[in-house]
Amino acid sequence: MRPAPHLTHTVANQAPDRVDVNEFTSHAALVEGVARFDAAWAVAELTQVGELVGDSEFQRAAQLAERREPVLRAFDRHGERIDEVDYDDSYHRVISASVAHGSHTAAWSDPRPGANVARAATFMLFAQVEPGHACPVSMTHAVVPAVRQQPELAERWMPRILSRSYDPRLYAGKPSALFGMAMTEKQGGSDVRANTTVAVRDGDLWLITGHKWFCSAPMSDAFLVLAQTDDGLGCFLAPRVLDDGTRNVFRIQRLKDKLGNRSNASSEVEFDGTVGYAVGEPGRGVRTIIEMVARTRLDCVLGTAAGMRQCVAEAAWHVRDRAAFGRTLIDQPLMRNVIADLALESEAATAIALRLARAHDDDASDADVAFRRLATAVEKYYVCKRGPGHAYEALECLGGNGYTEDYPLARRYREQPVMAVWEGSGNVIALDILRVLSREPDSVAAVRDELASASHADRRLADALRSIDARLAQASGRDADDVAFDARRLAEDLAIALQAAVLLTGAPDAVSEAFCASRLGVERGSLYGTLPAGVDVAGILSRA
Ligand SMILES: Cc1cc2nc3c(=O)[nH]c(=O)nc-3n(C[C@H](O)[C@H](O)[C@H](O)COP(=O)(O)OP(=O)(O)OC[C@H]3O[C@@H](n4cnc5c(N)ncnc54)[C@H](O)[C@@H]3O)c2cc1C
Repeated sequence: MRPAPHLTHTVANQAPDRVDVNEFTSHAALVEGVARFDAAWAVAELTQVGELVGDSEFQRAAQLAERREPVLRAFDRHGERIDEVDYDDSYHRVISASVAHGSHTAAWSDPRPGANVARAATFMLFAQVEPGHACPVSMTHAVVPAVRQQPELAERWMPRILSRSYDPRLYAGKPSALFGMAMTEKQGGSDVRANTTVAVRDGDLWLITGHKWFCSAPMSDAFLVLAQTDDGLGCFLAPRVLDDGTRNVFRIQRLKDKLGNRSNASSEVEFDGTVGYAVGEPGRGVRTIIEMVARTRLDCVLGTAAGMRQCVAEAAWHVRDRAAFGRTLIDQPLMRNVIADLALESEAATAIALRLARAHDDDASDADVAFRRLATAVEKYYVCKRGPGHAYEALECLGGNGYTEDYPLARRYREQPVMAVWEGSGNVIALDILRVLSREPDSVAAVRDELASASHADRRLADALRSIDARLAQASGRDADDVAFDARRLAEDLAIALQAAVLLTGAPDAVSEAFCASRLGVERGSLYGTLPAGVDVAGILSRA
């Protein structure tokens, strides 16, 4: 006789898994931003990518890539040093699809108007589901302006950088390449001028000796490395495999045991007579690599915005099917406030990210080039700082389940802080913003113009702009340390104002009005779920 079913095992009141959803077509802010910023031509491919990354198999691969972490294999079976890292097949599957769709270098291989917007959208769709692989993908995108400075290096490396094929092996003559960068040392990461690694000229080459304390994606084919020369800090391209097929010296000491970002290996490396090729003038390494960092900073905004979208999508999905105290959660007024507030944050981050991406296109006007210098730093500071809190609040919408590794938001919560730490930590970016404000009047004017033209549409933005103007005027006469003390406040005010401007000029009224009321108005709350009464919550939720 069959035993009676265990009533204690009845499973009820569960939301189905959020899988097999097209992550592009279901993301209203992304679809609208792509059209608004001149990348409508990419919709067909983005729709394909949206379907691919939303697929249950792909989502499973993303989960496994993080669970089955990369492992260092320093030696081969004979005891020869090989310094390789083994990744799980799930990671290879994710990154190979991402590269095939050009999330690394599509904006460079097809540089038409909107190219960076299309590439940003592709990058965001992949990073929404699997953020770890986005690190080497982003660095490969960002390395292009630096490599192009050196025609002989560009000739050899650019075809490989632009390739859409992915091959995890290291060998001479490989037709594709991914790049990393190695700047941070034990004694200092933000202050790279304190680097102790040295490079000595050897004919046409340089020999690099020293260490790097953080070097992510160590299986990349080449790295931009900062090292001291007699003329100051230089930037060098160090390949992992030399032309004759032998391995360049690249001793991986160990892999970092990280809070999140675990599918991506980050290593500690030593160089010992490692062959490098100069990129730019030897004494101007910071200037050379800053070109790269400018692009990776934008990708930090894109990556965080992608994470915010995942958070909103998962939270909104869950509360639609889960009931408590006699009502579905999404019908509970306070939960509606929380989800709508989270959605506004995601809308603003997505819109400003795409606006910035458009300013990075080859056809950007001088005003847009000036705009992107200040606005990218401002949003790198603010959007990345908002990421962890946003993820935390979203996972709480799933209750206890959100805190478990069975659901994707625990992973996201561990991922979000890294976007703020690398490519210039919060304070460093805030101080960089001050530098631009005092030294680059064209950038300040371009950002101001953007705010001024949108401020006609909303009194609160006009007030915010007046207050920013007053602070800027005050700053010019103040002691530098006092100005630095206040740098985060200024960065935050600029960031929120820019987000308001981009929403007022393109988002539906429900979104822009609620954003201005909750972020610029007097009723500004410090946590999520504090939207003031009267905002169009239904209008916001219908898009989430
Ligand atoms: C997962 C991960 C992967 C990474 N991958 C790479 C990589 O591939 N390549 C690479 O080169 N680096 C990499 N990094 C390193 C990263 O870029 C650095 O950790 C970062 O730049 C900060 O440098 P630091 O750790 O030396 O901190 P520090 O420079 O010592 O800074 C510590 C703190 O002080 C603050 N600070 C610094 N200067 C000032 C100031 N003047 N006023 C006020 N506050 C200040 C900073 O904002 C920071 O909060 C990675 C880091 C992580 C976490």
